Amino acid sequence: MGKCQSIDVSRREPMGENSLQEPMVGNKKRNRHLESMARVGSRVFMPESRASPTKSNTNTTLKEHKASTYDHVHELVNDGININDNGSGKVGLMNLGNTCFMNSSLQCLSNTEPMTDYFLGYDYRSEINADNIFGTKGALVRCYAELTKHLWLGKSKSYCPEEFKSSIGRFAPQFEGYEQQDAQELLAYLLDGIHEDLNRVLIKPYIEDKDCDGSNDEGDAIIAWSNYLSRNKSIIVDLFQGQLRNTMTCRNNKLIQADGTHGCGHKNVKFDPFMYLSLPISDTSNTLDDCLSLFCEEETLKGDNQWYCTKCKTHVDATKKIDLWMLPPILIIHLKRFKFGVTGHRSKIERPICYPLSDWNLSTRKKSEGGVFPLYDLYAISHHRGTVSGGHYTAHAKNRFDREWYDFNDSQCRKVDKEKEKLGFGSSAYCLFYNRVERNHNAAQERTTTIRRQSISRPELWPHLQRDAVKQWASTRVDLDYTVD
Ligand SMILES: [Zn+2]
Repeated sequence: MGKCQSIDVSRREPMGENSLQEPMVGNKKRNRHLESMARVGSRVFMPESRASPTKSNTNTTLKEHKASTYDHVHELVNDGININDNGSGKVGLMNLGNTCFMNSSLQCLSNTEPMTDYFLGYDYRSEINADNIFGTKGALVRCYAELTKHLWLGKSKSYCPEEFKSSIGRFAPQFEGYEQQDAQELLAYLLDGIHEDLNRVLIKPYIEDKDCDGSNDEGDAIIAWSNYLSRNKSIIVDLFQGQLRNTMTCRNNKLIQADGTHGCGHKNVKFDPFMYLSLPISDTSNTLDDCLSLFCEEETLKGDNQWYCTKCKTHVDATKKIDLWMLPPILIIHLKRFKFGVTGHRSKIERPICYPLSDWNLSTRKKSEGGVFPLYDLYAISHHRGTVSGGHYTAHAKNRFDREWYDFNDSQCRKVDKEKEKLGFGSSAYCLFYNRVERNHNAAQERTTTIRRQSISRPELWPHLQRDAVKQWASTRVDLDYTVD
């Protein structure tokens, strides 16, 4: 396997000069590239040894260089990180008192290549939305970027995430103290906070989702995505967000269809965005696919849970079914190991689950005809071991340079053998991080993930239209409003 991800730069909106589109070949080209980037004014962080070889450095490794566009961010960051230094991602995070849940989530996110590329090599500052009342005015993003720099460009073997901890505690008081918390809850808050801080939509228009009846799912899903993008556009949407299809079907037991089933035939279909999948575990779940089947299983709503059917104009029995519709480049799976009993008591499901390390094929799960072929490789795992109250979080992650697995246990980071470590099976796996495998047109053997920047004006970059559907779409796009972007 080669390097893992690259950012699609071929069709991005031009932001800089044409000269920046030149491929970098050798030092001469690279120097020219960096020089022209310096004129444009965004930043890439590089180790001092490379950034200015003539000056001696007494301070840190976080000397700034400039970059202008998404173009070549991935290569630039790869070139900029000195893999001989102690950093390059193999850095532990100190425990500040029950903060292993935070460290575990941060190590998994930090090993998400395109996200780290973005914070090290892209001008994220220019995308900070300081007026968003749902965000933190950029404070959270700045702290996260700082942390990323220390993990990948620093020279020490461990880093104290005190500033990050206090920043996240200021905006989400539940993380303020030193109690053990849930790694997945932190992850959800963090991704949400970063999304709002970097949301490129300045004024969110009000759009009412229309009721769909299942007769034109492909088209309806595209309209739902367009509506979503009119309120939400960020690197988080580009990387982590997909769509679920949520189908409600009337099962009014006073009516019988020709095929013998109950109901008036009315359906209500919604396409909801998701940032991660929370999968249940039952007594019979052995594999991740079993958990996914359970997640997609049809559920009957009756009694107090009856559904209001707009055709029958009354509350009726109904079925609810969730399907995966569109899958993101980075797929986060949360296994629901913690459950609340009727008394509010929290308990843990210790059942071991088998999960694929590579080539997880979700093509039969993805119900849309469009989209990139959904094949996924695992690159990080957040583990929880022990009881609900006395447990400990660690992480496993695959390093982007040597493609070896590392165990992150607070301040300790050590290389591990995936066979000895029994990766792929166990009761401790809590959150799993997968990246989509795509064939890189530049190098047939490389397993890459293409990241397409989502915006309303570029429907050809939407996930739904990544196959031959672009032409079909062109004929239908007149009914959409493209003024908001
Ligand atoms: Zn009905």
